[in-house]
This record gives sequence, C-alpha cells and structure tokens, in this order.
Amino acid sequence: MKKYDVVIVGFGPTGGTLANLLALQGFSILVLEKEKSFYPLPRAVHFDDEIMRVFETIGITNNFLKHTIINKGTKFVDKKNRVILDWPRPREITENGWYPSYRFNQPDLERELRKKLKSYKKVEIRQSSNVKKIINKKNDVNIIFEDINSKKILNIKSKYLIGCDGANSITRSQMKTKMNNLGFTQKWAVIDLILNKDKKNLPDRTIQYSNPTRPATYCRNVGKRRRWEFAIKKNENIETILSDKYIWNFLKPWLKKKEAQMERKTIYTFQSALAKNWKKGRIFLAGDAAHLMPPFMGQGMCAGIRDVSNLAWKISHCLNNKHDEKLLKTYQSERFSNVKEYIETTMRMGEFVNAIGKSPITNNISADSKGRKSMKSIKPKLGRGLGEVKDKMRGKIFPQFKNNKKNLDVRFSKKSILVVSGKFKKTLSKKINFYKNKSDKKLSKYLQNLKVEGLIVRPDRFVLASIKNLKEIKLISKKNLKLLI
Ligand SMILES: Cc1cc2nc3c(=O)[nH]c(=O)nc-3n(C[C@H](O)[C@H](O)[C@H](O)COP(=O)(O)OP(=O)(O)OC[C@H]3O[C@@H](n4cnc5c(N)ncnc54)[C@H](O)[C@@H]3O)c2cc1C
Repeated sequence: MKKYDVVIVGFGPTGGTLANLLALQGFSILVLEKEKSFYPLPRAVHFDDEIMRVFETIGITNNFLKHTIINKGTKFVDKKNRVILDWPRPREITENGWYPSYRFNQPDLERELRKKLKSYKKVEIRQSSNVKKIINKKNDVNIIFEDINSKKILNIKSKYLIGCDGANSITRSQMKTKMNNLGFTQKWAVIDLILNKDKKNLPDRTIQYSNPTRPATYCRNVGKRRRWEFAIKKNENIETILSDKYIWNFLKPWLKKKEAQMERKTIYTFQSALAKNWKKGRIFLAGDAAHLMPPFMGQGMCAGIRDVSNLAWKISHCLNNKHDEKLLKTYQSERFSNVKEYIETTMRMGEFVNAIGKSPITNNISADSKGRKSMKSIKPKLGRGLGEVKDKMRGKIFPQFKNNKKNLDVRFSKKSILVVSGKFKKTLSKKINFYKNKSDKKLSKYLQNLKVEGLIVRPDRFVLASIKNLKEIKLISKKNLKLLI
C-alpha cells in the first residue's frame, strides 16, 4: 500500500496553500480532490497582508501580484446613502510587509497555487478522487477513496491527513465531530459582473448598504469585475430573485444591462459555525471544514490560510523529528479563539448591514471632531498554546524585516528562529537557528521599543517568547531548543 507523509483532502485555497507550505520542506504529499478541476468562478475576492506574507513564503507573489489590486476600504451607508461608518485601508505597508488589504479573483489564486506545486517532485495531485473513508491508526492514517473515472476504490496510508474539504467535509464527519452554529444564517444573492468598459461613477471601494429594506454589498473587484450581493427575505421566491428581470431591476441605480456581462448569479447561505474538534489523532481539519463565517469582512478564506500556516510547521516538525502530541494539540487551541473573534466580528458586521445591529462591530471605532465614525481592522492574538501566557509578546505577529533587500523571513520559514540584539556577545550552539542583528536599524528600534534583547519567532511569523535581558537568552533558548534546531 502506497504511503505518504501527508495526505490533503480538498484542493481549494486552504488545501493548495497547505500543500505548498509542506512541499517547501520536501515531504511526500498527496492531494485528493473530488472535482475534475478547480471551481472556475470566484467566491473569495479579498485577502489581507498577513495572507500575502504566507503567499510570499510559498513563492507565488511575483506572478500573483499582477492579478491583484490594493483595496481602498469599505464605507457603510444608510438608506439615504449617508456614510455612517468608514473602514479605511490606508495605502501604507503594514508590519507584514504588504498593503493591508487586496482584491483578487479566486481562480487566479488557485491557478498560481497549482502552478507552483508542479515544481515539486514529491507532490502528487489526484483530481476526480472522492475520499470515502478515513481511519485513524496509532502511527498512521488509512484513506479509502474512489477514482471517479475508473470507479476503482483505492486504499493508501499517510502519516498525517488534513481535511481541507470545505463546508460539507467528509473528514469532519469521519472524525465524528459536530459544527456548532454560532447564530448567523441568512440567504444572500451573489451577482458577479464584468463591465464592458470602465465606469467611473461606480464606487472605487466596497460599499455596505445598511438598508433594512434590502441590505446589500457592492465590491469593486479586480479589473472590470464588480460584485453585488443582497439579502433575501424569508418569504421571497428564489426563482424570481434570480431572474434576469429582477436582477437588472435591482442593479438599475448603478448599471444598465448594456453596460456589463453577468458572469454568474447564485444564492449562498451565509453561516457562522465552528467545528468542536479540529484534531483526532493524526487527522486534522482546516479552512471551511473547521469554520464558516459570512463574507462581510472577506475573512473566510484568510482564516483557512491562517490555519494551515499554523499547522504546517508543526506537522513538519513532527515529520522531521518525531510525533509530538502536545505540539499538535496547540493547533486548535491557538487557532480557535482567533477565528472565533473573526466570526463574531463578521456576524456583528452582518447585523450592522442588516440594520439590526445593537452592539458596535469592534472596539476599534472612533469618531472625529465632526462625529464621523471610522473603524480599524482587528488583529486577534493567537489563543493559548505554545509559550507563556504572561509573556505579552507571545502570540503577536513578528514584523517583516527587509535588510539590503534580504528578507529575514526566509531565515525562519522552516523552523523557528532566535533573533537577538547586537549586544549579545556569547556564542550559542551552531545547531540553533540564530540571527544576531548587527546593522538593521529598524529591527534594533523594534527590540528597543519592546524593551527586549531577543525574541523567538515561529515559522508562521508569530512570536513564541520574548527575552528581556542578555542573561535570559541561553536559558530561554534551551527551554525552546527542540523548536530551534
Ligand atoms: C460569496 C462569498 C464570498 C466570499 N468572499 C470571501 C473573501 O472575500 N475573502 C475570504 O477570505 N473569504 C471569502 N469567502 C469564503 C471563502 O470562499 C471560503 O472560506 C474558502 O473558499 C474556503 O476554502 P477551503 O479551501 O477551506 O474550502 P473549499 O474552497 O470549499 O474547498 C474544499 C474542496 O474540497 C473538495 N472536497 C470536498 N469533499 C471531498 C471529498 N470527499 N474528497 C475529495 N475532495 C473533496 C471540494 O471539491 C473542494 O474543492 C467567501 C465566500 C462566499 C460564499
């Protein structure tokens, strides 16, 4: 029976990113996807700086960047089109080394993820392969799937299996874990259009129409692509809503029929849910298989990519050393509260758009002297897991430092790194992944502001531990030695 290091079920953006992250480390990987090809129409249209940094790690940004635009932000307007809340996304490079927010077309991303994977010899991709059964054993996982073309049932083994198989995950049902519904369930129509030519009077940013009669969203997507979404009331007839007549009538305030081609029209049920268990032995859930959220913040796919960024290096560590149950358990504990905060914030945003919200979307809302309100993006810390809770830096993002065009990130894409200030003169074991800052003024200033002499940073760019004084360096690096060598 053929055996792999990792089997990934599902080749959406979560599975594709995970396969790339693991392929960087040279493991044998099999991706099983039941569809013949990737889904050709866009769902996700937005992602953020943290995610672009992951794309940079896997080496797709050069090509992919051409297919993106920088997102200017979101305005919330009332039924008279008065701005009631602004969510600007300033055109400034963030701590992650990228702009805060981008717009893209999902098939372009999926194409780049696939293209990159082709460069790895030990990555196997099987489309038209429907996973039927997953059995967790002590030292490996058994996977039974059907080759849809030949109708053959095949049986393989893997050291780990990650279910990136979306909302109706077979992995989740095989793990016998439940989705907890967090309370937001609403049907929305999603209409994607391609303008025949540029139309200057259409907004250049996202508009959330907080209108109780017809809550709606407008998205300024890449190139000539534009999207409108609107809520459907319980008593409305779906067929009527999806008729061309109804849609073009809805679009009248913005667009005439002759001005654009309708790429697709569909109905989604926006949901908010979290799977109870994300791990069973050597089986894991990631992406929509583990959590669902309405798309008001454009964070569903981002959350899946954060999951696999967290999980990939932990699995890699186990494959390079030995199975470490304690380390792998931190995957859910660190990711769960982070994604929950995104889901809850998105739900409050959904209520605001539905004009029924009673509580503010975030605590990050301020008003200027004229009473104009604006909100800032959230950046939740990781939940409890690795590192000490009392360490205030633990679980926060470590900024990207580019020095003489070299990017410090590449030094810790595969294993954690100990970053210390230039003041540290003693030597450490050569086996330790270690970076002493000699000339990067920005990094010196960053460490000084934090009042620390060093930090241990994980491959997913989060801080594991901060080191207050030079004496602590040896002690703390010894404590975390297994992750640093
Ligand atoms: C209208 C809309 C707008 C959105 N906008 C955004 C946005 O702007 N930004 C954002 O971050 N997110 C957004 N999202 C959410 C985002 O689209 C999803 O979170 C994301 O696509 C989930 O990716 P995934 O890889 O986890 O799952 P999926 O993309 O669902 O992929 C799962 C894959 O698993 C395969 N599979 C399932 N069962 C099996 C099986 N038994 N065997 C083999 N393969 C199997 C499926 O065929 C599928 O290809 C939006 C969603 C919607 C609906």
